[in-house]
Amino acid sequence: YRDFTIRKTLIGILKEVAENLEDEKGVPENIVVGSHVWVGDPEVIWIGGQVLSINGEDAEIQISDERKVVSHLSKLYPKDIDAPADGVDDMTKLAYLHEPAVLHNLETRYAINEIYTYTGNILIAINPFQSLSHLYDTNVMQRYKGSMIGDLSPHVFAIAEGAYREMMNEVKSNSILVSGESGAGKTETTKMLMQYLAYLGGHTASEGRTVEKQVLESNPVLEAFGNAKTVRNDNSSRFGKFVEIQFDKFGRISGAAIRTYLLEKSRVCQISDPERNYHCFYLLCASPPEEKEKYKLGDPKSFHYLNQSNCYELVGVNAAQDYLSTKRAMDIVGISQDEQDAIFRVVAAILHLGNINFSKSEETDFAVLEEEESKFHLQTTAELLMCDAHALEDALCKHDDTYRAVIKLLGSFRLFKFCINFTNEKLQQHFNQHVFKMEQEEYTKEGIDWSYLEFVDNQDVLDLIEKDAQAHQGLNSLPLGHKLLRSLRIKYPTNFVFTGSTIVSITLTKASQQSMFREIEGNFWTLCFCSDAWQLAGLTIGGVYLLSCVRPNCIIDIYNSLFQKPGGIIALLDEACMFPKSTHETFSQKLYQTFKDHKRFIKPKLTRSDFTVSHYAGDVQYQSEHFLDKNKDYVVPEHQEMLSSSKCSFVSGLFPPLSEESAKSSKFSSIGSRFKVYKIWFFILSVSDRPYLNPKGVLEAVRIKCAGFPTHWTFHDFITRLWILAPEILRGNFDEKDSCKKILEKIGLTGYQIGETKIFLRAGQMSELDARRSLL
Ligand code: ATP
Ligand code: MG
Repeated sequence: YRDFTIRKTLIGILKEVAENLEDEKGVPENIVVGSHVWVGDPEVIWIGGQVLSINGEDAEIQISDERKVVSHLSKLYPKDIDAPADGVDDMTKLAYLHEPAVLHNLETRYAINEIYTYTGNILIAINPFQSLSHLYDTNVMQRYKGSMIGDLSPHVFAIAEGAYREMMNEVKSNSILVSGESGAGKTETTKMLMQYLAYLGGHTASEGRTVEKQVLESNPVLEAFGNAKTVRNDNSSRFGKFVEIQFDKFGRISGAAIRTYLLEKSRVCQISDPERNYHCFYLLCASPPEEKEKYKLGDPKSFHYLNQSNCYELVGVNAAQDYLSTKRAMDIVGISQDEQDAIFRVVAAILHLGNINFSKSEETDFAVLEEEESKFHLQTTAELLMCDAHALEDALCKHDDTYRAVIKLLGSFRLFKFCINFTNEKLQQHFNQHVFKMEQEEYTKEGIDWSYLEFVDNQDVLDLIEKDAQAHQGLNSLPLGHKLLRSLRIKYPTNFVFTGSTIVSITLTKASQQSMFREIEGNFWTLCFCSDAWQLAGLTIGGVYLLSCVRPNCIIDIYNSLFQKPGGIIALLDEACMFPKSTHETFSQKLYQTFKDHKRFIKPKLTRSDFTVSHYAGDVQYQSEHFLDKNKDYVVPEHQEMLSSSKCSFVSGLFPPLSEESAKSSKFSSIGSRFKVYKIWFFILSVSDRPYLNPKGVLEAVRIKCAGFPTHWTFHDFITRLWILAPEILRGNFDEKDSCKKILEKIGLTGYQIGETKIFLRAGQMSELDARRSLL
């Protein structure tokens, strides 16, 4: 299985390699007869061999006693036959920093259970898919305490130690970013980081509910409510997490805050085989009999929100035990018995709510409850939520979007897969900047000229997604009136009638196929200038579109909406959601039109509503169909009112009065901007075995390095490896730096740099030197 796993990792990475390096790599000059090379292989991805003969641009390669293959020279990579048999613990120690070498190194280490490897001070962690508890016990923590990164073998504790020491020494906050695809091991890695930081900052003397215990026990609680089985991971986190641990000046934990965001809410009502709903539902159904009785629960198979999938149990997990340990964790975290009861009542209520069926009433426009059983579930839901059953029935029957009320119950986060990719895009940018900066620092230290090292920037993707529409500044100082109208007339072949400060009428040609619907401080105004404006607003009078503004300032907003540069996809989505007649088709048309020249935006063929974003990690096709729905994350006012009047303060607290709610509503971009305030210094990339997922993050560090001087050798190591090229240098008392220069000059290499303590070689130069060596 492990073999299979690593092969699959390799397949995924191989694809990236092929795409990434193909155009950067011409026909290598340094591959000669006798060279050891890596050649692509359909079975094992990369296979090592030796060049037997070269015919034009094709090479014949002996890959085993029986097997020879022919390959184009440009598809070959030099293989370092002097590489240590058990790999190197830091990628920068590789003689050749290209992907076959990187993968071979990871594979070699993985085979001997070395799941951690550095690339500088980035840690790459490969999911071992087996318990390696000896790696994480207290003895190991003790060893890493006080160590520097690189002193001991690569480890997640070493990263935590480095971050902690830097924080203490520089008296500055520090961050560790854990990134990787689903199932790669982020959650497990984060738990180990927290474990280690709690070990460093724990109050050994104190008993009972210490902060560090609370910090650690927050994990099972969050996982019970926010994790679910997916096809990729039995314990997949369906939310993002930001853990902040505060330390006092003595380095002891003094507090903690955990922020979660982007919970996948649609999962509550909709799951598909073989996935599951959130763990908490199954745990509660497996609670002791008296509790099951209290919440009127039974077999998970009897609940609609659970029986849409045939998967009820998880391998190796005992739901009854997990229920009890979740409650214990809730105790430690400080959730009172009453609060726990309220939380589980809400969880149970959701299950009952899902079993209420409606049908259309014959007499009225409203829905009616379907059968007796629905009445039972309605009654139970009302009891559990401690609200009035009639009010609940009323509220539910008037709106067919019960599901929205339900999803709101689980918290106040907006989930939006799109947003997850976006968040990753943001993090990637931090990552790139970080790697770039480290490389740059090393060059500066060594006195190397680095000006041509190009930084791969994904700002254009971020703009495509998050940019706010740019409003015109300084309009407030404009005297409202003819100036404004004049500029409007220049922009559009229109006829404006300006009547004081409250009414504006605009006639526009049909050519302007745009529409907007906005609410400004509670006053609706419409600006409709599309051909079907009639149905949209009902405000048109003989081709003159009427805008009624309550405050003079609205004119500025109108002006801005006409003249501002279009924002990114999210801004357009927000706009579409505010417009009641928007459909995913109109939204898509708007996107196609706005971004038709954007190089990160693609309209796929054969679709009228999908669109593709060229993310940093690869192209992702999005179905706009789900966008509008997911973005409209509101609760029907009736539901809100009904639930905020619950006798249970926990339930009513979930639904604050509407005015408070809107006051704290936040924009999508704030999710990303939240990261802006943190300087991220330590990275951990985790890797799993999913061939269809993106290993590019790992390789990007390598790629950035390849762009400059990927190979750094100390003078001493360089001479040890290559003295044979100029044996005369070894005579007498020789200066290491000088001797290195002599070797390089003798070979006639150009483009390398010599720093204070190291030689910096361009990609491919080490293999050139090795080729010379093998010719001797
Ligand atoms: P998601 O994005 O879906 O939440 P994730 O990156 O958080 O995924 P994890 O839940 O941390 O992935 O890991 C998936 C599984 O892999 C774990 O449940 C565990 O079985 C295994 N695993 C991950 N890391 C380790 C490790 N260091 N040692 C042992 N097992 C691990
Ligand atoms: Mg996770």
